[in-house]
Amino acid sequence: APAPAVTVIGLGPMGHAMAAAYLEHGYAVTVWNRTPARADDLVARGAHRAATPAQALEANPLTVLSLTDYDALDAVLEQAAHADLTGRTLANLTSDTPARARAAAARLAERGAAHITGGVQVPPPLIATPGATAYYSGPPEAVEAHRAALEVLTEVDYLGADPGLAALYYQIGMDMFWTALVGYVHAQAVARANGISAADFLPHARKTLDMGYFLDFYAPRIDAAHHVGDVDRITMGAASMAHVADTAAEAGVDTALPQAVLAAFSRAVEQGRGADSLTRLIDVLGAAD
Ligand code: NDP
Repeated sequence: APAPAVTVIGLGPMGHAMAAAYLEHGYAVTVWNRTPARADDLVARGAHRAATPAQALEANPLTVLSLTDYDALDAVLEQAAHADLTGRTLANLTSDTPARARAAAARLAERGAAHITGGVQVPPPLIATPGATAYYSGPPEAVEAHRAALEVLTEVDYLGADPGLAALYYQIGMDMFWTALVGYVHAQAVARANGISAADFLPHARKTLDMGYFLDFYAPRIDAAHHVGDVDRITMGAASMAHVADTAAEAGVDTALPQAVLAAFSRAVEQGRGADSLTRLIDVLGAAD
């Protein structure tokens, strides 16, 4: 049988890791990247360099895209406006909003192509390693037809036919991820300003960010709208955040991040919710039931 084949468009850290994984798994790989030099080492290892996005998309039934955002996707597809995409599948592992994923899927459907939305849950070094997963949504028959190729990269966590779903779950996850990770960097800045190295604080950081207990404790309370302040009160949270901000300020570290959390707590207090649990913030932040 001929080698399985795939095209990869977008060779940033993520797309490059994906193309390399396909080469390692014996795929015939066609690549295209706006900055051609990022493909050089892949070409040296046997990848075929497409001259244009159109040639890249026409080279194989399946194209994996890994771009910064859907503006980049639009720029690439504009250059391939006259490519024949009939019957082709684009597995788009580019981050953007659910609305943009749905719009892209609709536009590609008009051109006879299937759009699978993906959201990769691991960093580039963990592509094609056990336990790596990605959210997927879109036409189930397209996902099934290309499952083997997708599973070279990660496990397939298929959420349903709506092309927005994978983007939605991905962005909800990133909402937590970036806030927590920038919180970690902020905390390490306060540590460093006090002469504590990141390595020295690391074991303490791991304990604090091991938050499974809190996620489990609060989820049923959020769903039940049970915001009673029996274990934590917003007034306590507000006082605590002020201590965090003051400690950062004393260390000469920027306080915008703790101030943003403090502002949410303060708004809840102003609305007479100071005696409630922090889960009351779900109303204060404006989530409709
Ligand atoms: P980068 O933003 O570093 O890579 C971007 C790729 O998009 C490059 O190939 C770049 O081309 C291309 N690109 C950007 N703008 C345009 C444009 N206007 N026209 C054509 N090509 C363009 O991202 P990563 O590789 O790190 O990630 C890719 C996707 O994967 C992102 O959506 C990201 O959110 C997601 N992701 C990334 C993770 C990570 O840890 N890196 C983890 C999980 C998901 P050029 O080389 O010419 O600049």
